[in-house]
Amino acid sequence: HDVSIMDIKFINMTKQELLDQILIPRIEREEKTFIVTANPEFVMHARENKQFKETIQSADIIVPDGIGIIKAAKIKKQPLKERIAGYELMLDLLKYANMNGLACYFLGASKLVNEKVINVIKSKYPQINIVGHHHGFFDLHDPKIKEEVAEAKPGFVFVALGMMKQEQWISEQLPRHKKGVFIGIGGSFDTLTG
Ligand code: UDP
Repeated sequence: HDVSIMDIKFINMTKQELLDQILIPRIEREEKTFIVTANPEFVMHARENKQFKETIQSADIIVPDGIGIIKAAKIKKQPLKERIAGYELMLDLLKYANMNGLACYFLGASKLVNEKVINVIKSKYPQINIVGHHHGFFDLHDPKIKEEVAEAKPGFVFVALGMMKQEQWISEQLPRHKKGVFIGIGGSFDTLTG
């Protein structure tokens, strides 16, 4: 079910297949899940930064977020079924969380954008249980934020700190959690509120 590009294993499914066959069953089983939405920049960066490479390789699912990844797979004659944009995947997860009244934590972006995200969620996804939120300009090693997120026991943690920071933060945070979907979503909060 995956295609390797420079040692990064991309899931080879459509977004719908990923949701139906992997994500929703994992959510129902309350299985902790780390999702990386990787574009070519991630792959290039992983080549130069061993720690970053190991961090993204530790993810449960890496989705091809960028046409460059789709092209690279085609050149390797191992075509990927679909580009899965992190933003679109986030919207589907929000929809699912709304339908099921699940607990979500929203971490990242500027203070203003983060507050706007909460307003958008309240109006567009009113059944989501917002268990907390925080902007993304804090000391990443600050244990206070980590504890706050862990105590909230969220089913979903949306992390918008940009490439690297978000994956690093998630991988450090994971051991504190028993369940939850953790996804790095780059600039998606800006897109959602823009
Ligand atoms: N960001 C953040 N904290 C930081 C750096 C960035 O919260 O220390 C946010 C920023 O406000 C934006 C997102 O992270 O909402 C990064 O967006 P970008 O499009 O740069 O994502 P990338 O392409 O790096 O994944």
